Formats: sequence, C-alpha cells, structure tokens
Amino acid sequence: MIEKILANLEKSNCATDNIFLQAVSEVLTSLEPIVKSDPRYEQYAILERLVSPDRIIQFKIQWLDDNNTININNGYRIQFNNALGPYKGGLRFHPSVTTGVLKFLAFEQIFKNSLTGLPIGGAKGGSDFDPKGKSDFEIMKFCHAFMRELHSYIGARVDVPAGDIGVGSREIGYLFGEYKHITHNYDGVLSGKPYAFGGSLMRPQATGYGVVYFAREMLKEELQESLEGKVCTVSGAGNVALHTIEKLQQLGAIVVTCSDSDGTVYDSNGINLSLLRQLKDEGKRHSLEEYIQQIPTAQYTKKADYPKDAHAVWQYPCFAAFPCATQNELTLNDAQKLIENGCVAVVEGANMPTLPDAIEWLQREGVLFSPGKASNAGGVAVSEFEMSQNASMEKWDFDKVDRKLDELMRQIYKRVALTAKEYGVERNFVDGANIAAFKRVAEAMLLEGV
Ligand code: GLU
Repeated sequence: MIEKILANLEKSNCATDNIFLQAVSEVLTSLEPIVKSDPRYEQYAILERLVSPDRIIQFKIQWLDDNNTININNGYRIQFNNALGPYKGGLRFHPSVTTGVLKFLAFEQIFKNSLTGLPIGGAKGGSDFDPKGKSDFEIMKFCHAFMRELHSYIGARVDVPAGDIGVGSREIGYLFGEYKHITHNYDGVLSGKPYAFGGSLMRPQATGYGVVYFAREMLKEELQESLEGKVCTVSGAGNVALHTIEKLQQLGAIVVTCSDSDGTVYDSNGINLSLLRQLKDEGKRHSLEEYIQQIPTAQYTKKADYPKDAHAVWQYPCFAAFPCATQNELTLNDAQKLIENGCVAVVEGANMPTLPDAIEWLQREGVLFSPGKASNAGGVAVSEFEMSQNASMEKWDFDKVDRKLDELMRQIYKRVALTAKEYGVERNFVDGANIAAFKRVAEAMLLEGV
C-alpha cells in the first residue's frame, strides 16, 4: 500500500518537489508496522488523505523598493491538515522557497505539532523574497504587500502563521500591523509577535532552548550522561542556532562551531556568543569572517573551498552535534566523520537537516538521533502558548513559559521513546516520532469523518 501511495505521489508532484517526496517517504516507511495494525486506516484512506495538502494558496506580491522600482515575488501558504486544530506553522522568506520546499515543511509540521500534544494543525508559507541587503523600510513594504494577499485566508481559529528562516519578530510585527489595518481585528492571528504587543516571553528562545531540553532528557535517559563539560558542534547562526548555543553554554557545554551559508567558524575555546550576536542577531547579516578578525585563534572555513557532499562544521570532534541551519545539511560523509570523531548524539534543531542515508548510518552505528519534528517542536509549542495568552488576554511570566516548555520537551521525548519501544524499534526516534504523531492525527481524522 505504501509503495502505491508513493508512486502516485511521484506522478502527481513535479520534479522540484523531491524534498517533499523525501519527507513523505521517511514518514510512510516508519508507519509500515502501524498501518497494518488497524484496518480503519486503509478503509478511511487515512494515508492518501494525509499526504495531500488541504489547499495550496499562491499569490503575487508586488512591492516598491527604496528606489521606487517595482519588485515581484511569489507568495504561498500551504494549509496541509487541520484535524487537530487551526493550521499552524511558520513563514519562510528565502530565495530557495518553492511549493516543493513548503509542502515538505508543512507536511513535517503536521507531525511536529501533533507531537506537542497541543491542539494545532499543520501549515507553512512564505516567499522567495530575499531579505539579504534589504533596508528596514523595504522589509516593511514587502511584509505589508505580503499580508495584503494573505489576510483573507488566516484567522486566530483558522490559520496562525509565525516566523521561520528570514522571518523574526520584526517581520511578524509588520505583518500584524497590516493585518490590523485591513481587518480591524486585534486577535492572535500571528505568533512570534514582539513582546510589546501580544508576543509571548521566551518565544525567541523557545526553539533553541527546547532542542537542548530535549537533548538533556534523551542523554540522561539513554546514556545517563549530561551536557556539562561536553564539546558540542552547532551549525547555523540564526535564531535557532543562537539560542541552542546559549542554552548549551548555560548547561556547561563547550560549543565550538557555528556556520552560515558562506562558511564555518571553529573556536576551540568555545564560541563567543556576544560577538556572534553582534554579527548575526535579529536579522543582522555580517560575515562570520569578522569573527576571526576579532578572535584570531579561531578558524574560518569558506563553504566554497569545501566539497559539495561534506560540511566543515561536522568535521570536528564532538560529543553531540546540533544541526540548526537548514534542510539537507548533514550528509552521509558528514555522519561518517562525526562517528569517527566519537559523536554519540545528533539532535536536529532545523527541519530535516540530515539526509536519509546519513540517518540510517548514524542509527546503525548506535548514535542517538533525534528528528527535528521532535527536538525542535519547542518553537511551535511556545507559539501555541502565545495563542493561549492572546485568547485569554493574559501575560505569562518568563519562568512559567520556561517551565512549561521544559516539561513539554521531556514529554515529547518520553512519547517518542515509549512509542519506539512499543513498536519494537527501541531507540529509533524517527519511527517513534512518526508513529506517535500519526496516531493522534489519524484518530482525529477518523473521528471527524471525510
Ligand atoms: N517555523 C517554526 C517551526 O518550524 C515555528 C512555527 C510556529 O511557531 O508556528 O516549527
């Protein structure tokens, strides 16, 4: 049955949708033991319905740059599945954005959101707009133009977009401003808002902190190990990477790397986070080369000087690795190098950063591997906390959100680990996450009918 679904999907999706097929194929392969266990899944065509988005909204965004030149970009919102609650998921502004990329992200989001145990469905959206080098006014004008097209498809109980790559609280602020102008509604239609008006404390930190809370629990339960004093490698230098580094350092780990699309920094004394923030925080886009100008004992490797199927950031010895940059950034070559260098755990902070053959290799060699849909779910979870606070007109303090996040990440780990055990694939957290997430969504779909 699964082969048939995959073959049909391949036929109905264009070649640029490979990444979507990669994500679906991983999930369906995990589900093999469970789909046979309940005849209702076939009878109600749950899998076929699950792999096809409810709707793909595509629009043209026209905006004026600072020279009053007209610019045109593609905008999208993919509402994939709302069996468990309103559509929920981020917006990505990056030149690599296509329907294929967003379908993969929206599909993954269904499972991630299900794993949180919270009432949220799966969606994703964004644009091929490149924020690099744009002025603040250009960002504002683009966000306003984007929302002029998007506003009629979203709502606090319909679809609640948030941030992702290229979209932080500044962009969400501008998007919200335009939504309010058009609709006169002041409700929680977006999450990741600035704290000054309706945002939740800790939303900026949530994904990265959540990744580390998950890692801490997994290492404690599986290996009776802690992160204290351990060398860790992190890729990326955006919001997720910065807060993963911050929490790792707070727990006493020594983080020796970070990276961006142009290169990698290795600092054996531990990444200087305040320097990194000066270069990269809140949409700043300085080159990481400036890091070594300030700290000459660190090393910088240009991406262009590196082979295509390997990444400098994974070549250094570490206890645990945290891919926090983007999809497909950890290859089989990288995985082999990590194992050779003694790495015991790979914890994904980005969405699907590890390639399927690399995951297989890591798992076979006994490396603990946590898929992003489990370990990076803290971001969307705190988004849901923001929706709760907006709906009840409350403001929770930092400690409350932090405690709830920590508890939720531990719950996710438990759910994933127990499900893996229950289905005879102990320590396979990919299968555990996919099966646990699927069961919740499928049950809702069965109960709601076609
Ligand atoms: N973009 C984030 C993710 O990949 C957050 C989504 C949200 O907060 O809705 O989960």
